Amino acid sequence: MATVLPANPGGTPFSTKNGVNMPPVFLDFTRISENTTNDTLEYVFKAIHDHDDGIWSPHESILIRRMIELFSQRGLDRLAAVKSAILAWEEGVNHHPSEVVHARPGMMARWSADELELVRIYLESLPPDQWTFDDHMMSVDYVVQRYLPPEELTTEAQWLATRAGLMGKVQANLSAPPTMTQADLILAALPSTVAAATQEFKLKALERNTLEYGNVRAVENVVSLTDDIRHKMRSVVMQHVEQKLLGGSPEGRSLEGDLLDNFAILNRDWRRIAVTEAGECQLQGFIANCKPGQKVKRVEQYANACAFCKKIDGKIAEVVPADHPNKDGTTQIWPGKTNIGRSASPRKRVGDQLIERTEDELWWLPAGLAHPHCRGRWVPEIEDEPGDDPEFGEWLRQILA
Ligand SMILES: [Zn+2]
Repeated sequence: MATVLPANPGGTPFSTKNGVNMPPVFLDFTRISENTTNDTLEYVFKAIHDHDDGIWSPHESILIRRMIELFSQRGLDRLAAVKSAILAWEEGVNHHPSEVVHARPGMMARWSADELELVRIYLESLPPDQWTFDDHMMSVDYVVQRYLPPEELTTEAQWLATRAGLMGKVQANLSAPPTMTQADLILAALPSTVAAATQEFKLKALERNTLEYGNVRAVENVVSLTDDIRHKMRSVVMQHVEQKLLGGSPEGRSLEGDLLDNFAILNRDWRRIAVTEAGECQLQGFIANCKPGQKVKRVEQYANACAFCKKIDGKIAEVVPADHPNKDGTTQIWPGKTNIGRSASPRKRVGDQLIERTEDELWWLPAGLAHPHCRGRWVPEIEDEPGDDPEFGEWLRQILA
């Protein structure tokens, strides 16, 4: 029969929290499979690295600080509009009494602008006491599509990813970090799409690929958050309507309270995209623009840095091309070096035993962020080093002149 796996084999028997010795926690994995055990360990260890407490503080990197605030604010405004609109439909304040109730438009995954208009007219004309479950769901879909249109959100995500990636190029071609005013001037002058950047600057294939990859990832994250919002709102409204139809219980939660709780989480999810995507794109853009052989220093100095990020703070690494032979993962970084497929958990289950993972299975010093919502940065080890793109350097000087 399997044995209970100790949470910290061979390690200290007690951890401390606020100076108090905490007893070890034993998790009984005996009845679950090896794969599930390892997935759970990975989940637990990744959760330790979320840095969530400092999520609203301004970003440490001047180059991306403003764009993170702008992207966050525009997103939060949209989310606030979704919240108010859902509440307004459910409270019946959008109802416009009319002679005729307009025809119910067909249910579709996505409406065109004209179809969206028909949905609005239909819902406004329908007396609130005649709304069916489907009408309530339709109003949620209307609100989500009205305030979170996929085309606009794609543009938003591309704006963030492209400019943050180009800020990496800016950093590689500036001799010293810019002031906030200079960073604003540069931000305003940068193109917002990869196509426009390719036209304006002579981008190496590696730079263009890095920018494109960052764009795809940012769009993917924003779209997936929108899907999440739609599902959550449908479920919140569904529960609320059900409660109302069943007479409602006096201790039942109000719709407004439920929306507030949900949007507190969704606002953080949006902010996490802003911080993570801008950071990742800037770091990858910087490394893609470093000359081979350049030495760079990792800076992980911000509130709530996790143990892994503290460990890599101050590490100096040499930038090498991705196709460099015999790359050394401990002293070198290269474009595209990530922690994808590597493990945050120091141990894994094999059979009934918990064994230490080897170095090559574990997180290492990545070119980008160590994990979502990390705020790590690279700085050149030697300042004043000329960038690898003199023409871009000249463009920068003109912007700042
Ligand atoms: Zn961390």
